[in-house]
Amino acid sequence: MPDQNPNRSAYPATFEPSEAFARHLDEQDPLRSYRDRFHLPVGRDGKPLIYFCSHSLGLEPKAVAPLMQEELRKWASLGVKGHFEGESPWYTYQETVRRTAADIVGAKPNEVILMNGLTVNLHLMMATFYRPTPQKHKILVDEPTFPSDLYAVKSQLSYHGFDPANALLTVKPRPGEHIIPAEDIESILKSRGEEIALVLFGGVNFLSGQRFDLQHITVTAHAYGCAVGFDLAHSAGNVMLRLHDWGVDFAAWCNYKYLNCGPGAVAGCFVNEQHGNNPNLGRFAGWWGNNPATRFRMQLDSDFAPQPGADGWQVSNPPILALVPVRASLAIYDEVGVDALRAKSACLTSWLAHLLAENRSARFQVITPANPQERGCQLSLLIHERAREVLAALDENGVVADFREPNIFRVAPVPLYNTFHEVWQFASTLAKVLG
Ligand SMILES: *Cc1c(COP(=O)(O)O)cnc(C)c1O
Repeated sequence: MPDQNPNRSAYPATFEPSEAFARHLDEQDPLRSYRDRFHLPVGRDGKPLIYFCSHSLGLEPKAVAPLMQEELRKWASLGVKGHFEGESPWYTYQETVRRTAADIVGAKPNEVILMNGLTVNLHLMMATFYRPTPQKHKILVDEPTFPSDLYAVKSQLSYHGFDPANALLTVKPRPGEHIIPAEDIESILKSRGEEIALVLFGGVNFLSGQRFDLQHITVTAHAYGCAVGFDLAHSAGNVMLRLHDWGVDFAAWCNYKYLNCGPGAVAGCFVNEQHGNNPNLGRFAGWWGNNPATRFRMQLDSDFAPQPGADGWQVSNPPILALVPVRASLAIYDEVGVDALRAKSACLTSWLAHLLAENRSARFQVITPANPQERGCQLSLLIHERAREVLAALDENGVVADFREPNIFRVAPVPLYNTFHEVWQFASTLAKVLG
């Protein structure tokens, strides 16, 4: 998808590899003031660390604490009446957050709901969209697969009486490579699509940082009658998404990585309108998914009457205090807009890629695709030798990155609070550490 973005012009297409140029990029950056909206972890010297770990946990917006105080005061002063009284009553607390969440994933507001955790939402979605038959019961995932997704998918297969050893199909990089070629995804769907009930892919692979063409996967998989869902843990708040237009059946994501909503934050879930409006679709139900008009009925003979839209998959009533950070953080996304964020993010990561390419060390390689359209903000570095020592040295120099055994660093500068100068500092520190 080409980026047609007015904010693009704020960022240059070519770089000079110097500290002065890094400073220049920061001065020109229209989003530079947003860094002040976050608490930045500091090192022993009291200076902010170079925090490139938002692929694991985004930083805390300063707006969270005051908003939390406000809800706590409301609870103290209103008790149960807080559901319907005061500003932003709890009963409709979802409404503002879900609009922003919908913008972030390219959906209509009624296609999105914030609830549970990511893996729980994947299970709820599979309860509806994984409808195996003896002939068509396989699940296709990308490999390496995030452990939680693997446990979830395997347990779904076993629950339905299938052996994961042959019912779980994966598509992975070719031997010696790190990226999954688009034609390999297409060819497994062509050769085995008739056996596959569900395609469940990451939007951006957590390890390699490869961004998949979700529209193409959706269209191809649908041609073989497979349901299609995406785990957007590394995509939401990171890359452009158009879930509605792409015709994706369902998706789920966590809000604590690129969306900065706090550890274990309430997760997001997308159900395509075409399914959301079908009350006959089976699901694991609870009172909060029911039509509010009959939600409280106590008769034994009252049948579950789902609300239209993604709301109909809610089970419990929403955890308001856990939604406070979601509300505080997503308000920033609402203010900045996903286009502006993506424009800066593309430039920030290209700047990182440029500086790493300048460093001609043979001791590491970048395994994430070089094409900005095939990645988000993360670059994954494969360190050929003594990766643990490199990690320790980076840590010593105030860099917070992430290490995956045996030898992969995942580095993610993000547009809301990382600077071009931090990227420059990281690249020069790495060069020093690698010698
Ligand atoms: C982070 C992540 C998860 C985490 O799942 P939770 O249910 O939020 O603990 C799952 N899948 C992927 C791909 C992830 O990156």
